[in-house]
Amino acid sequence: MTKNSADETIAVKTMERIHHGFHKRTTLAKKRVQRMSTDDMRKFMKNNGFVLFTVLAVIIGIILGFCLREYQMDFRQIKYFSFPGELLMRMLQMLVMPLIISSLVTGMAALDSKASGKMGLRAVIYYTTTTVLAVITGIIMVLIIHPGGGGKEKMHREGKIEEVHSADAFMDLVRNMFPPNLVEACFKQFKTNYGIRKVKPIIAQNETVISDSVINNFSQAMNLLLEVTEEMVPIPGSVNAVNALGLVVFSMSFGLVIGKMKEDGVILRDFFNCLNEAIMQLVSVIMWYAPMGILFLIAGKIVEMEDMTVVGGQLGMYTITVIVGLLIHALIVLPLLYFFITHKNPFVFIGGLVQALVTALGTSSSSATLPITFRCLEDKIGLDKRITRFVLPVGATINMDGTALYEALAAIFIAQVNNFELNFGQILTISITATAASIGAAGIPQAGLVTMVIVLTSVGLPTDDITLIIAVDWFLDRLRTTTNVLGDSLGAGIVEHLSRHELQKMDAEAGNFVIEENEMKKPYQLICQDKENEKPIDSETKM
Ligand code: ASP
Repeated sequence: MTKNSADETIAVKTMERIHHGFHKRTTLAKKRVQRMSTDDMRKFMKNNGFVLFTVLAVIIGIILGFCLREYQMDFRQIKYFSFPGELLMRMLQMLVMPLIISSLVTGMAALDSKASGKMGLRAVIYYTTTTVLAVITGIIMVLIIHPGGGGKEKMHREGKIEEVHSADAFMDLVRNMFPPNLVEACFKQFKTNYGIRKVKPIIAQNETVISDSVINNFSQAMNLLLEVTEEMVPIPGSVNAVNALGLVVFSMSFGLVIGKMKEDGVILRDFFNCLNEAIMQLVSVIMWYAPMGILFLIAGKIVEMEDMTVVGGQLGMYTITVIVGLLIHALIVLPLLYFFITHKNPFVFIGGLVQALVTALGTSSSSATLPITFRCLEDKIGLDKRITRFVLPVGATINMDGTALYEALAAIFIAQVNNFELNFGQILTISITATAASIGAAGIPQAGLVTMVIVLTSVGLPTDDITLIIAVDWFLDRLRTTTNVLGDSLGAGIVEHLSRHELQKMDAEAGNFVIEENEMKKPYQLICQDKENEKPIDSETKM
């Protein structure tokens, strides 16, 4: 072989090697990119899969619902069609009661009375402030847009409204805080009913009137004698619903006492901790089914809804006013409040909540959404469990910004369609009663519509006119429930931020406690170590 051809061979071989090396590197890089993208994809799906499925479920549900409306299903068919959605509601409701009890007991037991007092105060201030802000937003919107001009004569009416006396409704709220029977509180609430009581004949009450009448006019005297008047009287009654308020009050007090008992309360604390963990694991299982259930809940409701031509004119304007009010509160007021207090981006927080918000939209129940809200706040956003366990169940029971905004707005709308001029005092009364009514409303579908009677009667508006807004309530209820859940969750974030020093202090104390415990264990450990040290020696000597 000549020198030249040898050089050429070497050059070719080198080129081949370089090419081979390059090819190998490229293939490896490609594989790495492929692996990275599948890994990333898997990670992304793991983190956001549920959210994607849930959002997809809402979209498919809406499309399916509108497509099926053409077939004009009868009531039975609609019920069968909505069955998977009904199952989701039942599953979530099944977990609510044990979840409220176990999370509140453990939440309160984990805090000392001073810390829980401070955090409780912060939560109450947050609830009150946001509810008042919501009511103000609702009132401003309805006064500016004025959707109720033009009278109510041509408006569509739907359903029937049960009369409630404001004082009785308020007293029922307080009564329900103290359930006489805890087992019964798991499925029944106290509710004042009304009965007719016959009042004694006048003769027994005022004999002189009768005797005067006898002298003057015989027939008048006879009428008075026979007249038996009837009056409506409050009588004790009940409704089939979980008395959440009663359970909240009991669980909080119970948890506080267990916390104070220190070592003596450990068994109970561990029991409720374990119960809470177990329920949360069940929630994780149910979450797999949630998108399917939400799809059928939404599709079923769209198939079922009345012809939307009734939502023209004033009712349409009223619907738009409520939507704008809720959007302002949910997307401007609450996020701004969160930002000013925590200096963090509220929309990142809200991004972690999407699944809870969509579940609220699908179920119209902030109570039923509670298990999912817990999962989002603890697992996705990573809030401290001592805060979520304490703030969320209370918030879901009493803090309802969307409902308060809606009730104040709806009451003024009804005044507008009645051409009823409200003065400042009456608007103030509406604000106060709307706040109270939102506290009293249960976290179940359309509860706000029932408690609105209290707001209307407080300023002498006809309660019958609630039937004017029932046609759109199923839809607005979903939006206000979503706002309620958002308000509770942002509240938990704010309370956590404000309580960070107490939480750190408690952590430090717990750390000290562990160190102290370890210090106490030292002699024992030394003995053990000595014994362990002895072993090899023993074994060695044995050997
Ligand atoms: N459905 C609402 C909720 O569960 C209450 C309401 O009717 O306003 O939060």
